Amino acid sequence: MGAVAKSIQIDYYECNGCGSCVEICPDIFALDDGEKAVLISSDAEVTENVEEAAAYCAQKCIYFE
Ligand code: SF4
Repeated sequence: MGAVAKSIQIDYYECNGCGSCVEICPDIFALDDGEKAVLISSDAEVTENVEEAAAYCAQKCIYFE
């Protein structure tokens, strides 16, 4: 059996809207009207860039499951 692909999760309430994830992955993350990060597409894959965005998120609110 192959590994199950992990999906990108954002803790919406912990996000402070710094925009760092949007800068690193503008094709994956965007800020919504409440200045919180959201996924542009819910089936976006966890790429190296996405892992980098998660690593740089000061709030540590991007995670994978
Ligand atoms: S890097 Fe983290 S805190 Fe900053 S906008 Fe993205 S999810 Fe929110």
